[in-house]
Amino acid sequence: ERFVASVREAGTVTTTPRRRGEPLVRVGDEALAFVNAPDADPAVSEVREAARAALAIDARPDLAPTAATLRTTAEVDTVVECAVALSAGWAGVPARERATVLADVANRLEAARWELLAVMAHEAGKTAGEADPEISEAIDFARWYAGSAVALETTGGDELRFAPVGVTLVTPPWNFPVAIAAGGVLAALAAGSAVVMKPSPLAQRCGEAVAGHVRDALAAAGYDADLVQVVQVPENEVGQHLVAHDGVDQVVLTGSSDTARLFARWRVGRAGAGAGAGAGGPRVFAETSGKNSLIVTPSADLDLAVADVVRSAFGHAGQKCSAASLVILVGSVGSSRRFHDQLVDAVSSLRVGVPSDLGTGMGPVIEEPSGKLLRAMTQLEPGESWALEPQRVAPPTGGEAWDGRLWTPGVRAGVQPWSWFHLTECFGPVLGVMRADTLEQAIEWQNAVPFGLTGGLHSLDPDEIDLWLERVEVGNAYVNRHITGAVVQRQPFGGWKGSVMGPGAKAGGPSYVAQLGRWVPADDGR
Ligand code: GLU
Repeated sequence: ERFVASVREAGTVTTTPRRRGEPLVRVGDEALAFVNAPDADPAVSEVREAARAALAIDARPDLAPTAATLRTTAEVDTVVECAVALSAGWAGVPARERATVLADVANRLEAARWELLAVMAHEAGKTAGEADPEISEAIDFARWYAGSAVALETTGGDELRFAPVGVTLVTPPWNFPVAIAAGGVLAALAAGSAVVMKPSPLAQRCGEAVAGHVRDALAAAGYDADLVQVVQVPENEVGQHLVAHDGVDQVVLTGSSDTARLFARWRVGRAGAGAGAGAGGPRVFAETSGKNSLIVTPSADLDLAVADVVRSAFGHAGQKCSAASLVILVGSVGSSRRFHDQLVDAVSSLRVGVPSDLGTGMGPVIEEPSGKLLRAMTQLEPGESWALEPQRVAPPTGGEAWDGRLWTPGVRAGVQPWSWFHLTECFGPVLGVMRADTLEQAIEWQNAVPFGLTGGLHSLDPDEIDLWLERVEVGNAYVNRHITGAVVQRQPFGGWKGSVMGPGAKAGGPSYVAQLGRWVPADDGR
């Protein structure tokens, strides 16, 4: 029955470690009051008009950069000292009051939907179809983490008390510049930390827009807006000084595995390691890289599988940690033409364009392809052939800013096990196709990558689903569903293996806020 339900609801996700007999998603009592924010409905003409009007505003003076750009280690010190000074006061605010601020942030983000949509389009190249659910996710994080803050007050029972750790540095990525920025900042605030946010330089205005609403909510409730400071730092010793700072008790990072390792190394060696609230380790909480695949077996609903593969591989031009980079076809799915032809048809029908055009199916990549992505888009490995070779697309008049960043989606057929493309994260609009003899072999290849973020199976056979759920090594395992777009509360998001650093509590799940604090004896400090 479990599998019938998972097929019908098309969205089962499991969390790791899994134990048999446990519900696939565990939720706390606070979940009962939680409702996901609905996306804007493009079938409603007012929604389309509002989106179009927002996207038409090219220059947004209201979104001029506001982040403090720190050029010296002394400037970093000033920002961190401000956060340290404010953190004790915020830590003493009752959880319910912190939660009220977060609930207000949710409403402010909802009211700012079109503004956020526009800044994501213009700065980060997100299409409306990708940006809109991201705004819903940011709102969900605000409401969900508000609930977590309240729940944590009583979780420790008579023995333990949840205690804030001080200052959290949040470094969100450019690919989810609103949702992940909001998620990190709000989880840290919910946990009672003061926050320094350093957005990706490629999406700084998105981060500033989010922080602006959080700061407004703090100020409206009578708190110091500087509980959330937004900074930009160069990637040199000034940046290192911030990450390794004595006054920074923990770091929440979404980025590459390499960056997470670098941050951890810097923090292990930092002056204050071994002292203070955040002592005892680097305290880097990171969601990192992925090389994710979807397996399709002969029992699958192939029409559904094609649609889900296309959505997983080419949503936001494949620039999601969660994106499908490989589809592994089992047995006759790989040896017959049907799936192949339907896939190529569907991919080539994606309309490539600029994000300000509501009709765009696939938007730009964040920068002109270079390095691994350029190699993935232009060079084949032995045994491979192009089912669809990526082509550079000239931008329409008025869209010149996207020149070099618009490409048609690519499909590499014949990807060989253990090859470069099989094992390497490339982060862009290229999908590799592998052909396995059996489901067991497909799972082996799926698990062979150094990461373990998302994975999918399309199958209508309960035994196959059972086998796959037993063996797959990913944080988010989806059955008969696309593998991106985890939904807060229903599909807590996070990785396994090389896709995670730290204890790995999942974003939008029951323990995320808890991992950003610590447990002390209930009578400690009272
Ligand atoms: N949470 C996003 C999703 O489920 C992915 C986040 C990321 O790419 O970092 O698609």
